[in-house]
Amino acid sequence: MHDRDLYATILGIRAPWQVSDVSLKATESTVEVTVALATDAATPCPQCGRPSPRYDAKPRRWRHLDTCQFKTFITADVPRIECA
Ligand SMILES: [Zn+2]
Repeated sequence: MHDRDLYATILGIRAPWQVSDVSLKATESTVEVTVALATDAATPCPQCGRPSPRYDAKPRRWRHLDTCQFKTFITADVPRIECA
């Protein structure tokens, strides 16, 4: 199993999201997991649920539970949408 598949499984990442990168920064004792949304994925409005166009994405970073002794961070560009 590859590292991206491993982290997708243990983090519960499912389509249309995917783990696009996993990098180990040994000198900082961190694991950085990058999660990305498929470019053709629908983006429903969180208020009304209607599919809505994206106008940009905001980079976000979250601390997750450690991977052994390594601090683990999740990063993603979270899409922002314009609801009609
Ligand atoms: Zn809406």
